[in-house]
Amino acid sequence: MMIATTQVTATHPDDIAVDLYAAAMKEKMAIGRAKGRGGWSNSMQFPVEDLQLLLADHVQKGNPVDVGVLSMMVWHRGGTTNAPGCLWTQHADESGAWASACGESWSFADGGPKENHVGYCHHCGRQVVAEQPD
Ligand SMILES: [Zn+2]
Repeated sequence: MMIATTQVTATHPDDIAVDLYAAAMKEKMAIGRAKGRGGWSNSMQFPVEDLQLLLADHVQKGNPVDVGVLSMMVWHRGGTTNAPGCLWTQHADESGAWASACGESWSFADGGPKENHVGYCHHCGRQVVAEQPD
């Protein structure tokens, strides 16, 4: 592991820990920039929902520096750490099928996602938010 070049000038152990973590995040981001990554602060290029999904993904992957970087990005954009759900909308026709926001179509023999205890989307893995037509 490379040692970050950021100066750590704090004296309280909490501040030292935060500075070291920030230095690790800066190093990780510099590596990403060298690979051509960037644009996270541009809401047109990266909607906050995309950053939230990446954050949820990286929590599962397990690298706390990546989680810190993505948390920082979401924080700067005013978002929460909750990943947006996958909106399932029931077709208004007689098929009764449901369309997911991630582009899949689902049918149930009886009832909808709630009645069939579908909590997470089978396609994208996000929490299902069911919306029935009026
Ligand atoms: Zn989905």
